[in-house]
Amino acid sequence: MAATDPRVARLVMELRRQGISDGRVLGAIEKVPRQLFVAQPFLDQAYDNCALPIACGQTVSQPLVVALMTEALQVGERAKVLEIGTGSGYQAAVLARLCRRVYTVERHKSLFEQAERRFHALRLHNITTRLGDGTRGWPEQAPFERIMVTAAAHDIPPLLVGQLQVGGIMVLPVGDVTAGSQDLLRVTRLEHRLDIQNLGPVRFVPLVAGVPVT
Ligand code: SAH
Repeated sequence: MAATDPRVARLVMELRRQGISDGRVLGAIEKVPRQLFVAQPFLDQAYDNCALPIACGQTVSQPLVVALMTEALQVGERAKVLEIGTGSGYQAAVLARLCRRVYTVERHKSLFEQAERRFHALRLHNITTRLGDGTRGWPEQAPFERIMVTAAAHDIPPLLVGQLQVGGIMVLPVGDVTAGSQDLLRVTRLEHRLDIQNLGPVRFVPLVAGVPVT
């Protein structure tokens, strides 16, 4: 196997410094080549700890946020995970290294198609993609043990909670996107209520219902 790119090693060290301690999460980030998920003009920043623009006015999240959200999700090897907002596909690729299967939904056709090509090239065969409105979740595959939403909702979407297994965890940014920042929440579905933890401020593009007309 090729030696680790020094830029990757530097990024992983930076994530450790910022408090990411889960070795499985750091290992997954080390193995997913982020340069394959960013647009050509940003290639030289692929391993910088910053968010980068992708097509359709969207962004691939900052590696620290990907790491934080993945760590907070506590994905086990056998877990079936739903991701809303495939975007570049980077977060799904990181999750795919940690669990049994990732179901990921994107509303923009060009992003969906590009992400599919990347998963294929990387032989990430445990990712299933769908073009559509993720606010509806993926009812045919529910319940999920874990759900990650990578676009900001106004509130915790009840429809997605309904597709989360009892005891399952959902990580998502919640809040008004015009307010500057949102709160990253970890929601655990208990038998009769939700346990909600606020993990701090984040900034995401909005979760938009429906699919664009193209
Ligand atoms: N997880 C992505 C981050 C993408 S940014 C990555 O690793 O690159 C958020 C993404 O959510 C965007 O691509 C946006 O188009 C998508 N999105 C927003 N609302 C959506 C919805 N209702 N259904 C599916 N995808 C949605």
